[in-house]
Amino acid sequence: MNPFSPPKRILMGPGPSNVHPRVLEAMSRPTIGHLDPKFIELMDEIKGLLKYAFQTENEVTFAVSGPGSVGMETCLVNLVEPGSEVLVCINGVFGGRMKSIVERCDAKPIVVNNPWGSAVDLNLFEDTLKNNKAITVCVFVHAETSTGAKSNIKALTEIAHQHNCLVIADTVTSLGGIPLKIDEWNIDVAYSGSQKCLSCPPGLAPITFNSRAVEFIKNRENIVQSWFMDLNLVLGYWGKGAKRAYHHTAPINSLYALHESLLLLKEEGIENSWSRHQKNGDELVSELEKIGLKPFVKVNERLPQLTSTTIQDGIDDASVRKSLLQKYNIEIGAGLGDLSGKVWRIGLMGYSSNEENINACVRALNELINKN
Ligand SMILES: *Cc1c(COP(=O)(O)O)cnc(C)c1O
Repeated sequence: MNPFSPPKRILMGPGPSNVHPRVLEAMSRPTIGHLDPKFIELMDEIKGLLKYAFQTENEVTFAVSGPGSVGMETCLVNLVEPGSEVLVCINGVFGGRMKSIVERCDAKPIVVNNPWGSAVDLNLFEDTLKNNKAITVCVFVHAETSTGAKSNIKALTEIAHQHNCLVIADTVTSLGGIPLKIDEWNIDVAYSGSQKCLSCPPGLAPITFNSRAVEFIKNRENIVQSWFMDLNLVLGYWGKGAKRAYHHTAPINSLYALHESLLLLKEEGIENSWSRHQKNGDELVSELEKIGLKPFVKVNERLPQLTSTTIQDGIDDASVRKSLLQKYNIEIGAGLGDLSGKVWRIGLMGYSSNEENINACVRALNELINKN
């Protein structure tokens, strides 16, 4: 056997995105101990950089060891008490996953169902809260990567707070890609992932908790059922002024990578990153329309970092994606659930969001679908 040598792909699916060479280089630096004072300094810098990325002053802002789904589960297991009622907005795959976690917390999910490809409906959300007074937590996805739809989480948070609920926002695909302002929008808890618009390898989940959420966790009636994800314990390692006692061995080199990717974001400036994603997303949609591929999501709910495009009749979804990968080295995403075979999902996330990739992908798709 030989060492594994991955092909050079252009990653334009729903994640991971291509990783910047500086981030790959950072990852290969020598491993040090996870309680080494130099490593603790790095953790503090990461917390500061994540505060910038999330636009928050929340003290409890750090990276959970694990993919975005572990971030999701961490937020839910800490905020959801057994027997409580949780409003779960479902407009794609990830809302469905949150419902399943709520059930595993022995709580009762109250679901607001929305069509796939649409934002969460604000009226339906408010009516559900009015009709279910026992709800204590509301959860929703900012950027539904499974469909390409963006929800108005600022408005959802305002409504939830009028009903004295805490909110958890899934910002896995939004962080770094579209405006996300944790403090200005009063979002209590948010989690994200490293491999979407931050363009870092997968395996880390940035999270942020405001003081209301931390207060809630400290005063829970029941102990958090997960040992690994119990924030009361994790903060002994990541917390401010903590003794930095051993909790688990941090993924040291992955944290080097996250630090470097957050430095890149800071160097570009977060507003510039948001506008780059918007400009490139708009351009992708207009180039796709020229070759007959129409956007699936309506314009004011469309994500620039993940475009769902309708596949015309007579085109074989799987064979086009296979040729794209094999002949052109370009990866795009398939439709999920009911959208399987009906849409493609084209990502322009982080380092992958550039003009060259748009041109390469549209040219290749044109050759494959309009070849006669
Ligand atoms: C990718 C994604 C997740 C899950 O992240 P993993 O790193 O795959 O576990 C959750 N929510 C959204 C919106 C995502 O796009």
